[in-house]
Amino acid sequence: MPRVKQLAPGVRQLSGFPPNSINVFLLEDVLIDASGRQMTPWLKRQLRGEPPTAHALTHAHPDHQGASHAICQEFAIPFWVGAADADAAEDPALIGERQPDHFMAQLFFKLMTGPGHPVDRKLAEGDDVAGFKVIETPGHSAGHVVFWRADDGVLVIGDVLNGADVYTGIPGLKEPRKYFSPDPAENRRSAKKLAALEPKLVLFGHGPPLRDTKKFVDFVEALPD
Ligand SMILES: [Zn+2]
Repeated sequence: MPRVKQLAPGVRQLSGFPPNSINVFLLEDVLIDASGRQMTPWLKRQLRGEPPTAHALTHAHPDHQGASHAICQEFAIPFWVGAADADAAEDPALIGERQPDHFMAQLFFKLMTGPGHPVDRKLAEGDDVAGFKVIETPGHSAGHVVFWRADDGVLVIGDVLNGADVYTGIPGLKEPRKYFSPDPAENRRSAKKLAALEPKLVLFGHGPPLRDTKKFVDFVEALPD
């Protein structure tokens, strides 16, 4: 039976397969990201006992929006997406068009993309989601956002950085591969903005939770401008 794991007050991680490969979180009762479409039954099962009241994305990519439509329908909850990704979340063909023209990006698109779903709220800088502040972090996608709680330094970072290699699962900080980011230079600027926050707990789209602030800051500072 999959287990939901508590990481900080009001912050939980759903069980994934393999663990920490494609992450889904609950901030209070807001579901953050929804993995690839194959994970739909697995996610639904974990959420049945404590149904979410809303679903938000860090970004509209196939491995984050795959089960979004099914989950929003199942629990009759609203769908919240960064403003510049909202059209792609509604019409996933746009996700494919915006990905760099590389076979791995196109393969991920084919394998994991789920149906589109109407967006009820377009997230913008400074918005509140379950006590977290929305920060716009474009680059990996135009409308990528992260969720930041300054009180205890929790950062849900999506794919601005990866906490493990997305193919091998071996933990370690990395920039996303260039062929998964339409604008890698812009993404790096977003990473620098986040390192300045000195987060105490970083929750990645891919990779295990990281509680080593220095490691995170040093990694980002060492990236060329
Ligand atoms: Zn991803």
